[in-house]
Amino acid sequence: MGLFLFLPALVLASAAPGAIAAGDAAPSIRPNVLVITIDTCRVDRIRCYGYPLARTSGVDRLAAGGVRCTNAATVAPITLPAHASILTGLYPPAHGVRDNGAYALSDSAVTLAERFKQAGYETSAFVSALVLSKLYNLTQGFDAYDDDLWEEDQPEMFMIRDRPGPKTAKLFTAWLDGWHARGQAPFFAWVHMFDPHQPFNSNPPDAYLCPTPYDAEIAQADDGVEIIVKWLEGKGLLDQTFIVLTADHGESLGEHKEKTHAIFIYDATIHVPLVWRYPPLLPAGKVYDGPVRAIDIMPTVLAAAGVAGGDQTQGENLLGALRGDVAPPESPQYCESLLSQVGFGMAPLHGVRLDGFKYIRAPRPELYDLRNDPKELDNLYDHRKDFAIQLEARLDAIMKQSDAIALDSSNKKPMDGETMEMLEALGYMASEESISAMGGMDPKDGIEIYEMLQKARGAARFGRWDICESLCRKLLERVPGHASALNMLASALMRGGRLDEAEAVCVKSLESEPRQHRVHLMMANISIRRENLDEAEARIKKVFELSPKFPEAMIRMGYIERMRGNRKAAEEWIQKAAAEDPKSPRVQASYAELFYLNGKYREALEHYRKALEVNPKIFSAIMLAGGCAQKENRFDEAETFYQQGLKLRPDSWLPPYNLACLRAAQQRYEEAFTLLKQAIDTDTGRRPLRSLMTHDKDLEPLRTDPRFTPLLNAVKQPLVFEETLD
Ligand SMILES: [Zn+2]
Repeated sequence: MGLFLFLPALVLASAAPGAIAAGDAAPSIRPNVLVITIDTCRVDRIRCYGYPLARTSGVDRLAAGGVRCTNAATVAPITLPAHASILTGLYPPAHGVRDNGAYALSDSAVTLAERFKQAGYETSAFVSALVLSKLYNLTQGFDAYDDDLWEEDQPEMFMIRDRPGPKTAKLFTAWLDGWHARGQAPFFAWVHMFDPHQPFNSNPPDAYLCPTPYDAEIAQADDGVEIIVKWLEGKGLLDQTFIVLTADHGESLGEHKEKTHAIFIYDATIHVPLVWRYPPLLPAGKVYDGPVRAIDIMPTVLAAAGVAGGDQTQGENLLGALRGDVAPPESPQYCESLLSQVGFGMAPLHGVRLDGFKYIRAPRPELYDLRNDPKELDNLYDHRKDFAIQLEARLDAIMKQSDAIALDSSNKKPMDGETMEMLEALGYMASEESISAMGGMDPKDGIEIYEMLQKARGAARFGRWDICESLCRKLLERVPGHASALNMLASALMRGGRLDEAEAVCVKSLESEPRQHRVHLMMANISIRRENLDEAEARIKKVFELSPKFPEAMIRMGYIERMRGNRKAAEEWIQKAAAEDPKSPRVQASYAELFYLNGKYREALEHYRKALEVNPKIFSAIMLAGGCAQKENRFDEAETFYQQGLKLRPDSWLPPYNLACLRAAQQRYEEAFTLLKQAIDTDTGRRPLRSLMTHDKDLEPLRTDPRFTPLLNAVKQPLVFEETLD
């Protein structure tokens, strides 16, 4: 690789604004460094990349003041591996993080933050989704790593906990305030926005200007970028800050039959936006067409700051090329996705982009001419086999080189409750049986099966358990014993109160994959629903055998003891769970939820109050506390909770909806209709409002009224759901 030869150019380039060497104590001229990543952001949905309908003024401004790369590629269409590459300058086979959830970055990695920390920088990271939580060890070198997402709403079912980009940006600027007040060392920071990731439910002020919900999500992330840029500008620091903005991957939006991302490595998800801005070193308004990779970010920013260590990466310092001082390097762009293999037993995908072509290694290999066929529709492999074989050799060389320098393979695999929940959420649980059923299948053939699972999850999220059930059954015909499909089917059956059938499905799931403690917990829940507390306890023992510190199982134990009348033992279990889980209001809230689900509203209310004593802003706890009070016919109390919810989240349809139900119970029908209309107006069409209005018992007295049907018809269609089920 030209890596070592290129290094001297790197040091020269960075010496431009005043000789800065690593470790040199000249803080006033060392730039601040800011890496911004926008999750799931397609390059062709940004205005400066030629999409006039985009509302991306923040990104566009950075590009106008810096260098915009037209040929940047990520390493994997998956959040954690892609960010691990940005932060280490290594390809996934080298840093070892191959997928979300089941991998964490090795302690032996030397991260971008560690390099800056060693050079005397203040360092911080602000992430917006659970996939990047502290658990995955990207924290190395950061003084502060803000991943506190617990004050957000409960995520929708099968969705990942996240927070809006502008909120993350404001937390970051609050940190910057403190940094600025200290006024000593420069900062290195990484800010991650998750908005464009599904579900599409953001509501930026001018969402109506965006052609699709996906574009509105990008606009919301861009609002976060604006907040940061304005802060820097306000302090006169914008030009003293080296900024690089990119995406971890794109989104397929139906290309190649893939709705979202993570299986395929086509350009819909691999080709990403990438913008650099630092006026002292880089020209303004320049377009750079040379190849750029996620792994080049680390050596380039280190060089710009005069910090050593870039030569310890697989990437190249691009400063000279970005400035136009030297020709763009050749830089083959490696990418991979192992999800098809890890989650389904299909073949993995590895690819390389080089000289305008992309080669994909798969059971049926692919070769595309990206310049003339950017959507990768015309596979040239059979026509240009010789060339494809050359690219295969390049791919092989990159993989071998990565293996040779791979970090120790004893990566911690953080299989705690949170991770399992997320793996389930992502549908990643493949069993031995399903792996053999898929038998290394080409993902091009298997994508339908993957999408079927996604559809089933979509149906579940919208409460259409009937559709979910039939999709799971269809899927299981194709991939017998697929644990995720079985688990989802069991959930669907449980929702319908079909406990015996649900139990049988859980048993089958455990036969194919016995170490799923969550499935044992589901079995315990079935026993609890049957009020067979001894059986429930025996089943929870199995959960503890597999996961001894699992807070949710402790909460179940607390419930069981409480139902037996052992109040003291119950309290002890809940305290244990709280000790495991530093955010204890969450423990109280989930304890409360358990009572709620089992129709014990008085006890549920008691524990919601406890949760709210610690953190009065847990929206879901406020709304459910109101629900409990209403079920107990304590209407005044319910009213107080709902009004609290309305004040906290004026943008949510839920408080007016619940107030409408309350008014119906109070027989104040006029007001009920007004509130229902308010709920419909606030709803963004992405929640199951229509199905609630059709089935909710609370609204029964309204349904015979002639005003009801027109209101029902006014409910916005659930966009994502419709799209998922077509
Ligand atoms: Zn991502």
